[in-house]
Amino acid sequence: MMKRTLLVLISFLFFINLSFSQKTTKTERKILKTVTANTAESIEFLKKVVNINSGTMNHKGVKAVGMVFKEAYDEIGFSTNWIDMSEVNRSGHLFAETNGTKGKKLLLIGHLDTVFEEDSPFQEFVMVNDSIAHAPGGNDMKGGNIIILYALKALVDNGLLKKSQIIVAYTGDEESTGKPLSISRKDLVEAAKKSDIALGFETSTGFNYATVARRGSSGWKVEVTGKRAHSSGIFNEKVGAGAIFEISRILNEFYNEVRGPAYLTFNPGVIMGGTQLSFESALSKGTAFGKSNVIAQTAVVKGGLRFISEEQKENARKKMRAIVAENLPHTSAKISFTDSYPAMGPTDGNKELLKILNQVSFDLGQGRVKAYDPGKRGAADVSFIAEYVDCLDGLGTMGKGAHTPQETVNLNTIEDLTKRTAILIYRLINQ
Ligand SMILES: [Zn+2]
Repeated sequence: MMKRTLLVLISFLFFINLSFSQKTTKTERKILKTVTANTAESIEFLKKVVNINSGTMNHKGVKAVGMVFKEAYDEIGFSTNWIDMSEVNRSGHLFAETNGTKGKKLLLIGHLDTVFEEDSPFQEFVMVNDSIAHAPGGNDMKGGNIIILYALKALVDNGLLKKSQIIVAYTGDEESTGKPLSISRKDLVEAAKKSDIALGFETSTGFNYATVARRGSSGWKVEVTGKRAHSSGIFNEKVGAGAIFEISRILNEFYNEVRGPAYLTFNPGVIMGGTQLSFESALSKGTAFGKSNVIAQTAVVKGGLRFISEEQKENARKKMRAIVAENLPHTSAKISFTDSYPAMGPTDGNKELLKILNQVSFDLGQGRVKAYDPGKRGAADVSFIAEYVDCLDGLGTMGKGAHTPQETVNLNTIEDLTKRTAILIYRLINQ
């Protein structure tokens, strides 16, 4: 029996060794060659699209960037479609696709918009040195869009994309999604339902990391009412505690009772209380009036909550509701929740995809790829479709300072990341 276990172990180790010693095939080497040949062109393409402002609310600019990509996808034989989103006060999305039944059906996700609107002083692609460009949206995520395009182009150029279904979805409002989501994310969700796997090309957290899970985000608001009275009566049977003590109790109990599970965080972002207040929830601002000799009649706090699964979110909400219901004397409170991004949980399917990517990376001599800490990544478009398909994200360019005027993109890594993407896609559609 011992002998047999040992034998199994040895053959298992041999298998692991064998599977990690696999290298690229002849066809794969052709793909790699094409990527290399097109790298200079891909960087020129990046420069061109970065220099077109596409802040989310610059609808014309977002569409203009979409049209540049549309032309490129038309050229490699994809059927393209601009989906207008003026209904939700956004520009629109570009979808490009091929039809087929061979291998896994893939959805590749990018976005055309950036956080830099037309009035931002940051508008231009400028080389910092021979490998780094200072570029608004160059890293988040026009670089990622380029990686998708040039990986697919390398496959098309070698005649390898004729029989598979690939949908490229470039949304035009990732940085500030159009509402309701049932309209602005409808096409993305439909594309996911037709696919087996989704790959997101948001900024990479490094060569050796990919995102198998992203936390979801949501909002909450607590509104409290107390009994207005002279402060000298506070704590007595008729007057009670007042709204400000009650809201303090609630927050303190949130901190003590709800805090704890890994990846669950919640943050009260704004709070007001007093005799009178006007709070504009959508703008997160308002004014309050109160006096030290008057017991506060009203209070409000608004915050956010991040979670790794729907179950974790629901458990947290349940605890919050229970805390809000146990009021101090003569006060009442209510809590409301808003959903924004669902979680992309660390599923077995996602981890399996990471293994495939890891093997590709290893075969290309680019080193192992590990799962990035989901606690450190914000939500993204991939989150909306994570419940329908296996997914990986963070496959885009490397760079720094996304969403700030210091944003840079590392051009030296584009070739290697495009190679890795092209081989990954090739292997998936031949599975
Ligand atoms: Zn992004």
